[in-house]
Amino acid sequence: MLDLTPKTIYERTALRINPCKTCQPVGALYAALGVHRCMPHSHGSQGCASYHRTFLSRHFKEPAIASTSSFTEGASVFGGGSNVKTAVKNVFDIYDPDIIAIHTTCLSETIGDDVNSYISDMDIPDGKLVVQASTPSYVGSHINGFFNMMCGFINYLTEKTGSPNGKTAVFPGFINPGDMRELKRLLSLMETPFTMFPDTSAVMDAPMTGKYEMYPAGGTTLAEIKALGDCSHIVALGRITSVEPAELMKKKFKVPYTLLPLPIGVAATDSFITTLSKLSMRDVPAEIEEQRGQLIDILLDSHPYTHEKTAAIYGDPDTVLGLAEFCLEMGMIPKYMITGTPKEEFTKQAQALFAKYGVEGCTAKANADLFELHQWIKNEPVDVLIGTSYGKAIAKAEDIPLVRAGFPILDRYVHSYLPLVGYVGAMRLAELITNALMDRQDRDCADEDLETVM
Ligand code: SF4
Repeated sequence: MLDLTPKTIYERTALRINPCKTCQPVGALYAALGVHRCMPHSHGSQGCASYHRTFLSRHFKEPAIASTSSFTEGASVFGGGSNVKTAVKNVFDIYDPDIIAIHTTCLSETIGDDVNSYISDMDIPDGKLVVQASTPSYVGSHINGFFNMMCGFINYLTEKTGSPNGKTAVFPGFINPGDMRELKRLLSLMETPFTMFPDTSAVMDAPMTGKYEMYPAGGTTLAEIKALGDCSHIVALGRITSVEPAELMKKKFKVPYTLLPLPIGVAATDSFITTLSKLSMRDVPAEIEEQRGQLIDILLDSHPYTHEKTAAIYGDPDTVLGLAEFCLEMGMIPKYMITGTPKEEFTKQAQALFAKYGVEGCTAKANADLFELHQWIKNEPVDVLIGTSYGKAIAKAEDIPLVRAGFPILDRYVHSYLPLVGYVGAMRLAELITNALMDRQDRDCADEDLETVM
């Protein structure tokens, strides 16, 4: 069907075809799942909640819990106040979370429900908490939903007691639980006391034990979120995803922050490790140095197969920027970079990358869709696609290898357990990208040129 995509490109403003993003509540739900014993709550119709949960469950292959205000026609006309108050009572009675995190949907935003005032009118059981974030889906993307929900938790829960706790707060950005585990491993090796917020490891990658746990062991605790105001510094990862919660922390609690790119690839991981080294005043341990050295070795070995190969990279803004920089480190050219999230900072950062590595003829666009990316590829093809499952139709139509990386990956398994961040994550990425290019070479070469040793 996608063979019918036309080559001629028209400027579109009112229509997205094969979007490169999803709606705000999906990101808000994911952030809330990274809080220990939290029930995310969707203030809107059952259909929205069902979509948000399914979307996350299909990526993580894990149940994504969430309750809903179950809007019907009545709530749509008269407001959802009584629905959400009943829902909160039922959820605490039946599912017993420590906290409910409410996010809004298009419908509740459009009718103007004031969830904040509903919360102040609620009968909340002693020791339990309710927070909320406004997440209208006709603005931004799941990335906005993710950082808006982080701000919701900070606004409602975080305090500053005046007694510093000596910890570094780490805002990991919109990444997989496997990435969060890798960040925590690096933080531990660097002997940096930290609080990671949110933290979906041991929640969305919890092991099979034979027993269903509605609230698995992982997630940032409420005590940790409360104490974020006493942290001495914030390391905010993802220049687009983490800047707003970091700014909020600076404004409200005067906690300074260092904003870094997602640590994907050599240079970005170097920045992360160097920052930790400065904060903890510790030398980089041999284990980390060894892994960095292995990565450099891998890049040298694979260079003949990656040099000057072109890539189209699409997905979440910080992930795309990280993947693009790593491609540049591999000697590749990130010919096209798009994100569906409407943040012009993405384009600025992409242009800075092109300038830093001296590459020309590359295009970066925010608020773009995969239809347009497909049109660019039809006009000037690339060697490899790197991104989410939504690019597979382009890969098939144009016969280009696809390396799956980012969110969402709905048609493969295991990806969310294994990191892309850090030197170890970069080794995995190098393997995925190089092998995709080598598989293509094997497939396309003449029989007499097929080599067992390459
Ligand atoms: S109606 Fe809005 S909130 Fe609900 S699923 Fe659609 S985009 Fe998301």
